[in-house]
Amino acid sequence: MKLYEKNAAELSQMLQNKACSAVELTQDILSRIDAVEGKVGAYVTRCEDCLEQAKAVDDARAAGKTLHPLAGIPIGIKDNISTKGIRTTCSSRMLENYVPPFDASVMKPIRDAGLVITGKMNMDEFAMGSSTETSYFHQTHNPHELDCVPGGSSGGSAAAVAAGEAILTLGSDTGGSIRQPASLCGVVGLKPTYGSVSRYGLVAFASSLDQIGPLGKSVKDVAMLQSLIQGHDKMDATSAYLEYTDLAENLSGHVQGLHIGVPKEYFGGGMDNAVKESVWTALRLLEQNGAKIKEISLPSTEYAINTYYIIASAEASSNLARFDGVKYGYRAASYDGLTDMYEKTRSEGFGDEVKRRIMLGTFVLSSGFYDAYYKKAKLVQRRIGQEFAEAFQKCDVIITPTTPSPAFRIGENIDDPLKMYYNDACTVTVNIAGLPAISVPCGRSREGLPLGMQVIGSKFAEQTILNTAYAYEQLVGGFHVIPETL
Ligand code: GLN
Repeated sequence: MKLYEKNAAELSQMLQNKACSAVELTQDILSRIDAVEGKVGAYVTRCEDCLEQAKAVDDARAAGKTLHPLAGIPIGIKDNISTKGIRTTCSSRMLENYVPPFDASVMKPIRDAGLVITGKMNMDEFAMGSSTETSYFHQTHNPHELDCVPGGSSGGSAAAVAAGEAILTLGSDTGGSIRQPASLCGVVGLKPTYGSVSRYGLVAFASSLDQIGPLGKSVKDVAMLQSLIQGHDKMDATSAYLEYTDLAENLSGHVQGLHIGVPKEYFGGGMDNAVKESVWTALRLLEQNGAKIKEISLPSTEYAINTYYIIASAEASSNLARFDGVKYGYRAASYDGLTDMYEKTRSEGFGDEVKRRIMLGTFVLSSGFYDAYYKKAKLVQRRIGQEFAEAFQKCDVIITPTTPSPAFRIGENIDDPLKMYYNDACTVTVNIAGLPAISVPCGRSREGLPLGMQVIGSKFAEQTILNTAYAYEQLVGGFHVIPETL
């Protein structure tokens, strides 16, 4: 097995036992990038200093320093997470040449632990999309089927893990952008509880929904990375004060007596049969190993997509007002006065999907329509949260499909926003309610494309959902992430 095919937990052991060095591992990843990046297109920017970063880790180890278990592991960072001195574009023309003068708070533990930062990952523009087709730069391809999308918006982050172009990646999830691409690319992705990972330095899309989280080849990999990045940050007013534990150390792999809720609304008409069958097969397996399955109902699920697109667009219209050609980023080359400068800058700097969201968001917040849309969406949001809270009185976790279908073809949905938005049917509720959820690979479609299962927990129950996912991973003998055909 090549180094790039191994997961972070295995590589961590190898590095600690000196079975390989950080420089060797990084070299292996760099040659893998050279071999497949032309087909996959996961990166927007590659870091030139990877080998120096790796050498610093090897030197520290040789000097007898105590290192973090993830020291020397190559990691890719979604391109909406600010990285000091490394271009951060949000895959937008607006920020094409923007180099942040500061790091997002999550970068501090990553740099301190000695992970090797390989580069910045492609995404839908400003994280708006489900296919990475709205990137200003290029299309990212699904490593399992190059004609298909990798999902989005963290499509580059998921594709890189599946292609062996990074061992771990960070994504961000506002309505499914970690879990949906993880599902479509056959990798593991965790959307943490709102407030558990600092958002300081994450370029804001919808601040009340956004969360940074890890992607990797195994449940243990994401548990290790989540343990590193979670925790209070005084720079983020919504960051929670909690005693955090090592999630990877505490993975039990047992589901004996675990109560699993299965909401019927997530197995409805628009759901692909292969998806439903795979998730039910997984549920039966968990049941055979001691879990208790209970069918439940979350009746407001049918309003979730509408609610999400109203709230997310409202916040986006406000957050993206900062891109005005004055403070940073793109400015139109010629204009006639201030208003014209704003108009031209924003018309030229943003792509179609971002403009659609800004217009929708401005509309739902306008004085004539605020009560009819935004206010109503906030009421439904509360209802969705209550329904989950009631469900978690009766069960420990809730299991659903991650997406209604496997990866679709590039170009298939891009001209039909409503079809594209339907991709988020199973994921947006989790953000609306601020809950944690993980997507793990769960079988294949008839065409051989990966399918995903979502495990949802109550607030700050990351350990419980990781344990459930880990138990499933053990029962199926691990996930085989890297496609042989690539
Ligand atoms: N696909 C959803 C959207 O387009 C979710 C995006 C996200 O989670 N960043 O808004």
